[in-house]
Order: sequence, then structure tokens, then C-alpha cells
Amino acid sequence: MVSIEEALQIVDSQEVKLNTRELALALAQGCYLAQSISAPFDMPSFDNSAMDGYAICGAGQAFEIVGEIAAGDIAEKALKAGQAMRIFTGGKVPTNATAVVMQEKTAVERITLHVQEEVRPGQNIRRRGVELKTGQAVFEPGQLLNPAALGMIASLGVEQVKVYQKPSIRLITTGNELIAPGQPRREGQIYESNSFALMAAMHDQGFYCEGKTHIRDDYEATEQGIADALANCEVLILSGGISVGDYDYVKPALEANGVEELYYKVLQKPGKPLYFGRKGNQFVFALPGNPASSLTCFYIHVLPLLQKLSGAQESGLPRISLPLAEGYEFRFKRPTFLKAHIRSGEVRILDGQGSNMIHSMALGNALVFLEEPGKYEVGEAVICILF
Ligand code: AMP
Ligand code: MG
Repeated sequence: MVSIEEALQIVDSQEVKLNTRELALALAQGCYLAQSISAPFDMPSFDNSAMDGYAICGAGQAFEIVGEIAAGDIAEKALKAGQAMRIFTGGKVPTNATAVVMQEKTAVERITLHVQEEVRPGQNIRRRGVELKTGQAVFEPGQLLNPAALGMIASLGVEQVKVYQKPSIRLITTGNELIAPGQPRREGQIYESNSFALMAAMHDQGFYCEGKTHIRDDYEATEQGIADALANCEVLILSGGISVGDYDYVKPALEANGVEELYYKVLQKPGKPLYFGRKGNQFVFALPGNPASSLTCFYIHVLPLLQKLSGAQESGLPRISLPLAEGYEFRFKRPTFLKAHIRSGEVRILDGQGSNMIHSMALGNALVFLEEPGKYEVGEAVICILF
């Protein structure tokens, strides 16, 4: 048995081999950069207007309008004191412009511009290089290519990036009692749901599961199923069959396949019977079958491995500290992830905390992490893990 920190440390300390590939920017969403990027030119690359209005030169209230600059245009002449040019947002300000006055603060009478405000020198001009200077570091390897990062890179004129390859993932569900949704159900059977939750969680986090298989609780079938999956993936995730029941064959079948155990059982709730192992450059997580346990274990323990294998800077889900919306009596003796809902800057621990109960997790948006048993008062700050 290991603590949560030890379990995370074991994952974090694994030597991994990262592969890279070149991708068109348009296909790189959710990948992690395998290169650094620096600015090839100043950003913005020229002084430009932040407003639709008039570029003016000098002080005063009245200016002679001598031309117009649309976005993409370049003024043919420099401004002289007392002159103004019509300009639009993003337009390159003419040489000698001292400020831009927004059009709402002006009145035009034939070719005379009347300025109806106190003008601050430089106002509404976005100066060349204020965001980035040529050569300045923009991104380091491991940066997530989120929408803003893609936009940023495109704005630098780059359309091909080197990224880390994501690991190939396979999923095996186990259990004689399980049937697929859509099938008629006999007494004693339950619908297989973990694969739906787990594959969606992977997808949500930018990972793709290449295939899932269901295996009955039979040692031979389990050993063979694991062998088949390991022939085709870098990360194998199993659900169920890893506890201490008589039909829990996953652990011996992994051993028979040459998978080396890195830990088994984590001091946590839910999800104590969690297994992590390795075979060469392949990794295996066997998650407990209870639906809330398997999904919680995915978010807390599997996700950091997938991120590490993808060259990510970050590890795990974001965490914040928030006040409790209601007091909570915490009786468990193990560090616990509680299904919770954050709203208006407060967090409420939900009813239905059983490790089989996924309804409360579906209604929630965070896990509250509590370690010490006791009474937690309303307003007390607790750690929230956002999923
Ligand atoms: P196990 O970890 O195999 O002992 O399973 C623990 C509990 O989780 C049992 O009630 C199983 O029926 C249930 N369970 C296991 N796998 C799944 C699954 N893929 N979908 C839904 N429930 C499952
Ligand atoms: Mg089972």
C-alpha cells in the first residue's frame, strides 16, 4: 500500500521515451509543444490604432483632415502639426501621429476635425513591440496548444509545429455481470458503464483511446486479452477484477504477461485497489471497477501519466482552494476525494459519496480532497480538484 503522494511520485519518476512529430498548426490542438518558439518579429510589428477614429499630430482642438488609412493600408505621407487622418482599428498610424482620438469623441465639419476631449499623448496607439520583442521567448517545450496558443503561434506566421506524440491507449473492461447498454438485462446483470466514462474523460483531456475490449472473469481469457492489448498500445487501462475477490484475475494475468508491479493499493477513498505497472516502455493501470472509483482514479492517477507521456508541462487537474458552502462532517479514516459542486465561488459536498455512485459525480464539477476526519465548518477553505 502506498500513499497518494507516493503513487504520484512513482508515476512522475518513470523514465519515459518521448516521440515527436511535425504537425500543421490546424491539426495540433491539445498537443504539447516539443520545441520552443520565439518571436520572429516585434508584436505588434508596427504602431497601430486601437480604435476607429482619427490619428492626429500635435495639441489643439481643431485639425485639418488630410487623408484616410484603412486596416492594411499605409499612409502615403507623414502628418504635420495640426493635421489629422481618418484611421480604423489595426491601421498603421501615420508617421508623426501623436495620438488617436476615437470617433465618438469627435465632430467633423467638411475637412475640419473637432476634438471633444482632452487628448493624452500616445493614447489609442498600440506601439510596435509592446506585446513581444523580436527574439523574445514565447513558448517553451511542454506548452499546451490550447486555442489561445494556436492563435498566438499563427499570429507569428508559423503554420507547422513540432509536438510530442500522444501515447496509444487501449481499454479492457472485465466482469461476467456486465452487459452493453442497449441489451436486454437479466436479473443480476448490470450495464457496463466505465468504458463510456473513461473514454470520455480521456477525450476531454485530449487523449484518444484506440480500442476497448470486454473480457469475462476467466483467467485464460484475461491473460490472452492483456497479451493482445499489449501488442498494440503504450498505455493499457483495465477496469475491474483487481480487488481481492475470487474472480479477480487481472493481477496474476498481468504478472504472467511480464508486467512489473510498481504499486498496488493506494491509501485513498474511493479507489484503494489501484494497480500501476510497467513492461518496457508500456504502462498499465488497473482501476477498481466501481464507477466512481475508476473515474476518480483516472483523474487523479492516470491523467498525470498520460500527460507525462505527452511531454506536458502540467501534471493532473487544476486545484483551487474554496470555502465550503455548508458545513461537512468527515468521518472516513482514509484521505478522500469527495464529489462536489462549485458555484459562485463556494463548494458544496454532494450527497451520494459511495464509490459505486457516479450520479453525484455527474452533477458535480470538482472533487474535494479531505485528509483529516472531523467537522468542517461553513466557510472553511478546502482543496477542490476541477474536472
Ligand atoms: P470489481 O472491481 O471487478 O470487483 O467490480 C466492483 C464493482 O464495480 C462491481 O459491482 C462491478 O459490477 C462494478 N463494475 C466493474 N466494472 C464495471 C464497468 N465496466 N461498468 C460498470 N460497473 C462495473
Ligand atoms: Mg469484477
